[in-house]
Amino acid sequence: MADAHEVPEIHDDIETPALQPGSMGHLAPYPAVEKHMVPLNFPAARVPDWEKRGVEKLGEMLKKYRSLQVYMDICVKCGACADKCHYFLGTGDPNNMPVKRAELMRSVYRRYFTPAGRMFPGLVNAKDFDEEMLKQWFTYYHQCSQCRRCSVFCPYGIDTAEITMAAREIMDAIGVGHKYTTEIVAKVHDIGNNLGIPKPALSGTLQFLEDDMLENTGHEIKLPLDQEGAEVLLVAPSADFFSEPHIQSLMGYAKVFHQAGISYTISSYASEAANFGMFIGSYEQKKKISKRIAEQARALKVKRIVVGECGHAWRVAYSFWNTLNGPFDFLDNRYPVPQHICEFTHDLIGRGALTFDKEANDAYVVTMHDSCNVARASRMGPNPGGQFTIPRDLIRATCNHFVDMDEDTIFEKTLCCGGGGGLLTDELMDLRVKGTMPRVTALKKVMAEHKVNFLALICAICKAQFNKMLPMYGIPMDTVGGVHQLVSNAILLGKNKGIV
Ligand code: SF4
Ligand code: SF4
Repeated sequence: MADAHEVPEIHDDIETPALQPGSMGHLAPYPAVEKHMVPLNFPAARVPDWEKRGVEKLGEMLKKYRSLQVYMDICVKCGACADKCHYFLGTGDPNNMPVKRAELMRSVYRRYFTPAGRMFPGLVNAKDFDEEMLKQWFTYYHQCSQCRRCSVFCPYGIDTAEITMAAREIMDAIGVGHKYTTEIVAKVHDIGNNLGIPKPALSGTLQFLEDDMLENTGHEIKLPLDQEGAEVLLVAPSADFFSEPHIQSLMGYAKVFHQAGISYTISSYASEAANFGMFIGSYEQKKKISKRIAEQARALKVKRIVVGECGHAWRVAYSFWNTLNGPFDFLDNRYPVPQHICEFTHDLIGRGALTFDKEANDAYVVTMHDSCNVARASRMGPNPGGQFTIPRDLIRATCNHFVDMDEDTIFEKTLCCGGGGGLLTDELMDLRVKGTMPRVTALKKVMAEHKVNFLALICAICKAQFNKMLPMYGIPMDTVGGVHQLVSNAILLGKNKGIV
């Protein structure tokens, strides 16, 4: 026991747990409140005819998203996905098997949208959308981090994450929202970022970090704010401005821009790369949040947009920005739109603009945690698999000691940190502790076999989650850090400037 949470025992390998039906049935998130729901255009509270409206909304979504209709129909219950979810592996609750999680929606779908379900519900396990079903939806669709690991193992490619997003969208539409995610989206609309950092506080922090870097390096490395005419708009997760170890990566980005001699700016209006519109399953909110970035790119007259280390932010940027707020034809088309900070740094290394003292990271034996939304929902760079190779190239360019974890736990089979998908909230701590167990098992193995002592990441949520979880498993908090933290440690300043 640690922090009053039951911490699973770590074995040599990830094992399929004994079934514990209903063991996580008590753990639902806090419900959203009126002041966060209304600004998002959701009902303030559960609407009186919620059963009817929920079924209508499901019907609308089946028409709008053909994939959802297909996912409802084609599952053959083969069970290949059953033991692939980290939340099932950590909890043993069958409702955390992807197939069972999806069945919560499929049983409702059959009841209202199939002839057999309408006439003989008992024969086809069709269920009413009633109070008990809504409770199960609210509980177990908030025990899915939308990581998409199950879809990698499904022979039909069924994406349970998409089913989870649809369930959350339906619940929002009937006034049954999730407090943590709706509060954060409301904060972005109000202030501009997830953490609610106003411009004076952001400006003060950036100034403090500039002073810190001057003292530590002797170089005037800038973190410019709202600089019209800069070459690049840097959009980072707001955690990079205030949280550890995120802030170390922010300083790494700044050193890269400084050393390459490329002007850039952060925006106080679009001071958030993260986009929780994805977590609540709302296209409209996703669009509204990312619009701030497109507007600022225009207003500040930049030529490029670079996105910092944040997994789902990169998914939204890479996979959806163009549809949501494009075209971005006002930017310089010689560069990718958007460009990931790892891709940006990687390209500069290739051009000879950056050099490193790898010995600066000799205290570390590094391994890499692939974040779900980068690994399974986006790409990076011009080549397939770039989302895996580019960050690893950066690690190898800046460190002498690198080793990967077991192949079943990396690349597209990577395991979720346990806190993604809008679940990084304290009331779900028990789920987060258990859900991180498979990743910790793989990490502990390379710690034992190869003396690994640094877990490199490119996701703000993974950093925050592991920062809290690893100490519960007896691993020091400072084991976790960003890829650009390693870049920051090793980059040689004052040479090669401007060779681009
Ligand atoms: S998307 Fe991830 S969290 Fe959700 S059911 Fe699949 S494996 Fe589990
Ligand atoms: S692997 Fe695919 S088809 Fe098989 S049970 Fe899971 S979702 Fe259904």
